[in-house]
Amino acid sequence: MSSAPAAASPQSSSAELYRCAQCAAPVSWDPEQNALACEYCGNAQLVERPATEIPEYTIAEAMRRDDHRGLDVQVRRIRCDNCGATVDFDPGSVAGGCAFCGAQSVAEIEEGARAWRPEGLMPFAQSRDQALEEYKKWLGRLWFRPSDLQKGAQVDELRGVYLPYWLFDAHAQSWWKADAGHYYYTTRRYRSSDGKSRTRRVRRVRWSPASGKHERTYTNVPIYASQGLPKNLCTGIEPYPFENLVAYDGRYLAGFGAEEYVMDAAQGWEQGKERLSQEERDACRRQIPGDTHRRLRVSTSFSDAKFRHVLLPVWIAAYQYRNETYRFLVNGQTGKVQGSAPWSWAKISLAVTVLLAIALVVIYFVGYHQT
Ligand SMILES: [Zn+2]
Ligand SMILES: [Zn+2]
Repeated sequence: MSSAPAAASPQSSSAELYRCAQCAAPVSWDPEQNALACEYCGNAQLVERPATEIPEYTIAEAMRRDDHRGLDVQVRRIRCDNCGATVDFDPGSVAGGCAFCGAQSVAEIEEGARAWRPEGLMPFAQSRDQALEEYKKWLGRLWFRPSDLQKGAQVDELRGVYLPYWLFDAHAQSWWKADAGHYYYTTRRYRSSDGKSRTRRVRRVRWSPASGKHERTYTNVPIYASQGLPKNLCTGIEPYPFENLVAYDGRYLAGFGAEEYVMDAAQGWEQGKERLSQEERDACRRQIPGDTHRRLRVSTSFSDAKFRHVLLPVWIAAYQYRNETYRFLVNGQTGKVQGSAPWSWAKISLAVTVLLAIALVVIYFVGYHQT
């Protein structure tokens, strides 16, 4: 029964399942040892990192590609009805509910992967325990959260998943036009309520047309290529140290999940252009001379767009707290945390009460001194 799902999937013909060289138990990637570790006999097989160039493709080349699908490792595929994420799991690990939304209604699916095999991958560098520590520190810094959150069961659900990304390189050229504003001051005379003549300094703006050009070559612009997680959470744990990318190697997936992308390279590039256009607009805004500006118009064109499909490591906990879904992510390389956590209304109302009491005391004493 255990071998049936893997055998049914078309990608499994040559797919690997990593086993311990000593006792043949399934092994998993251990970030602390940089090795495939066996939890039964303690054996660790080091994973060497050859310095291989990770290929890049133009969008046109990419859309013509139809080779190398799937992850080339034995997996159980799971699709979540709630958030729509498709995740490949190491058959040796317990899938449980959905890693992205905490839903329990996940279905194991038989169909093979349609997604391209990634060109590169960033291995986990933070172990589960280290990620848990970062999470607890992060949670400890938040105010007004329920006390039972720290020790709640949700932390047990922390799972390591590789997220699918498009990494873009592109050259951007922007031309901008705006009205640059320069401040100057005049003195205005006015009559105050007691009938005396007084003067006041008034700020005015002199507008003059301005224009310019900005260009920049961007590298490794990350675009999350799927839908399991909200975009703001994903960008919240950036940046990633892209110098730690390695050529794709299925051994790093042992014991982890990998989400399949739903957005292809062309759709990803549309989002990439949006992100870069915003950065270009900000860069142009900083070029405008003077003290202020209005009517900024920016026209940006892109050239030499290339991309790679890579997997980036994230520890995820999705949990339900009083019927609401909360998630937090820990960057699997840097340990940076981003997430949402429930508020404690009891603590907030207590704080408001205390502040009100202090305000009343202050008002009382100030009032006392004035009379
Ligand atoms: Zn072993
Ligand atoms: Zn889900």
